[in-house]
Amino acid sequence: MRNFLRLLGISQAECIHCHNPAIEDLFLCKECIQDIKPFHPIEYTHIPYVFSYRVFGKYEGVLKSIVQQIKFSKNPFLARWLGGSIKDHLWEFIEQTNPDIITFPELNLRRFWTRGFNQIEEILKGAEVPYQRVFKRVGFDPPMARLDKKKRIKASQTHTLRKEWIEVLEGKKVLIVDDVLTTGGTISRLCELLLSVGAEQTNAYFLTKEL
Ligand SMILES: [Zn+2]
Repeated sequence: MRNFLRLLGISQAECIHCHNPAIEDLFLCKECIQDIKPFHPIEYTHIPYVFSYRVFGKYEGVLKSIVQQIKFSKNPFLARWLGGSIKDHLWEFIEQTNPDIITFPELNLRRFWTRGFNQIEEILKGAEVPYQRVFKRVGFDPPMARLDKKKRIKASQTHTLRKEWIEVLEGKKVLIVDDVLTTGGTISRLCELLLSVGAEQTNAYFLTKEL
């Protein structure tokens, strides 16, 4: 019966990372859950327009499996659960940087429609972090993974600020939360946007960093 349900995609009895038996409803086994902890030392390099940032872990192993599962299997529950697991680490950075506004990049409409949720929003809910939606997307663009570096920079320019936030951002400290840090191009562009309308400080928090 269980195998039959699994075939239907209703029951998932295996860990999404190592295929050992998963804890019920969690999609992960006990060992993999224990592997989810902040990784030190992450190599930090300067990102233009970002005052400071933190990364929870490397984009590998269990974390990578989880991030991929959330995106490709459209699993908002796993995103919320993950939010709970990174909660302490994220809140430590929130307390250090003391932001007035916490926000995240928006998905383009096409991706939002196919996925049905924004994974960062679910992670923030899981971590009990209050957030605002400061950005909006303009136009359609292909998934970042398929683009070379030059095109990624161009794609990141498809974000703009929501009109109602332009005046509000003056003098504010803003924290942007994102899932994967790759080139830093997107976060840099978003922070530049915030600073251009008078934000006082821009910080960033990433769930993972690509190697
Ligand atoms: Zn496992």
